[in-house]
Amino acid sequence: MIDLKELEVWFITGSQHLYGEETLRQVAEHSQEIAGSLSNANQIPVRVIFKPVVKTPDEIYQVILDANVEPKCIGLIAWMHTFSPAKMWIRGLSILKKPLLHFHTQFNRDIPWDSIDMDFMNTNQSAHGDREFGFIVSRMRLNRKVVVGHWQDPEALAQIGAWTRAAAGWNDWQGAKFVRFGDNMRYVAVTDGDKVEAEMKFGYSVNTHGIGDLVQVINEVTEEAIESLISEFEQQYNIVDSLKKGGAQHESLRESAKIEIGLRTFLQQGGYKGFTDTFEDLHGMIQLPGMAAQRLMNEGYGFAGEGDWKTAALVRACKVMGAGLPGGNAFMEDYTYHFDPNNSLVLGSHMLEIDESIASGKPSVEIHPLGIGGKADPVRLVFNVAGGEALNASIIDMGNRFRLIINEVQAVEPQNDLPHLPVARVLWKPYPDMKTGCAAWIYAGGAHHTAYSQNLTAEHLRDFAEMAEIEFVRIGKDTKLDQLRNELKWSEIYYQVNKS
Ligand code: MN
Repeated sequence: MIDLKELEVWFITGSQHLYGEETLRQVAEHSQEIAGSLSNANQIPVRVIFKPVVKTPDEIYQVILDANVEPKCIGLIAWMHTFSPAKMWIRGLSILKKPLLHFHTQFNRDIPWDSIDMDFMNTNQSAHGDREFGFIVSRMRLNRKVVVGHWQDPEALAQIGAWTRAAAGWNDWQGAKFVRFGDNMRYVAVTDGDKVEAEMKFGYSVNTHGIGDLVQVINEVTEEAIESLISEFEQQYNIVDSLKKGGAQHESLRESAKIEIGLRTFLQQGGYKGFTDTFEDLHGMIQLPGMAAQRLMNEGYGFAGEGDWKTAALVRACKVMGAGLPGGNAFMEDYTYHFDPNNSLVLGSHMLEIDESIASGKPSVEIHPLGIGGKADPVRLVFNVAGGEALNASIIDMGNRFRLIINEVQAVEPQNDLPHLPVARVLWKPYPDMKTGCAAWIYAGGAHHTAYSQNLTAEHLRDFAEMAEIEFVRIGKDTKLDQLRNELKWSEIYYQVNKS
């Protein structure tokens, strides 16, 4: 469903005619070599395309215009091998609609101490040429990522790679459609928000369908389709006896399969990249979509419960950003705490819908009563989640802006069996510590719903926030609560003043 190799970033080298044909030929050769090397780098999941060296305001304007309308192009990498007087860039940069990375590199890693002469100096000018470019981007108040280092430096390549992943997530949102079955869970604040503003800011739309529209598609699912999905389940999972063929509750498993097929059909027919539903509006459905949501998330769809369209969209973006990396990206909720002072933990879960993409080991298919919703017992996948570095991310609507908050966490292997807990679950320790991490999250207004990522870092999410031009708050190992509380207040002033 997600293939990053179809996407391109364009490598654009700035220069000017002053240097003459021979130098410009060499500049182009060098740029071509660098672009090719970036394209082949393991750290960079998209293709990097060399574009002819730009030397005039018209050439700059034209390549940016072309980038804006090329659907495969998800961003621009700019580099000034020589000096490119930056007033030439104003007209082009003023129409730029794609994310920008400024790669502050140099063709030669080392100074050739014995042979360096003025010809070498004139060709290798990025140390000052890139400063001229940096000035105009700052002067124009444009967001961009600056990466410094030789073009074969693995650290620089990883930074570029993180940015290309963020750009892929951002690109995926442009024109994306998310469907909301029913409205928001009644009275809940953080899951609601301004969908018009979100579409203007983020590029995706959220529209509602009454649950009846979905029920109609579910009711058209054929017996054959259900049978074939049941055989898939039999191969993939450990199914409890009561749900197996001949078991007392097998009909519930068939119902779950039917819901899944109906949902998938609805999403495919509407071209949706994700969905949200609410247990308060399930008229005509026999059980809540538990296992169906879990499996659809594993296929790449964004999802969040209770009408939470912002988290559904964020989960989808995280799946695109993390495509091809080991580990998964999942809808999550901070559910309950272990306040042991020597081993404080958060248990993350949801009523049902924890994404199969983060399962460790073979999930089991189980059926249990659900205390709320008033529907038949829903079928769900139950599994544990591996330990390791991870993060939680949340986008909230502050009224005058959106804020992306992340908390870096360390997931820990489950230490107990939890035989009576009928849902998938994750255990983690928030950074910098339980009390600071939780307090910082609450001061920042972070939601109880998050996108939980095993393969993205703060760098991916920061780059993503810069592309979206929204506020970014990181809670991590070095977070000091006093400082964070001040930063939140300072940001309030920034966003009151900066209305652009
Ligand atoms: Mn919830």
